[in-house]
Amino acid sequence: MQLNELNNEKLSSLVEMIRLTKPEELTCDDLLAYVATYADACVKDLPVPVGSEPVQQHLSICSECMEEFQSLVNVLRLR
Ligand SMILES: [Zn+2]
Repeated sequence: MQLNELNNEKLSSLVEMIRLTKPEELTCDDLLAYVATYADACVKDLPVPVGSEPVQQHLSICSECMEEFQSLVNVLRLR
């Protein structure tokens, strides 16, 4: 039954991939709750915080939040 096991494994990794790439329903207000933590990690070269995929996703599609994020990074770098 090796073939079945392989298929199940492939299937679950495919499901995982879809889950991770699925655009999350993150609003600009939601993003502001996470953007400080995310910017802090970026400035300090820390690993990207767990669960920040939706934040990255939102930043890639929302120029207003991207501006917010970049100015936050600039402020943090000046410290
Ligand atoms: Zn936004």
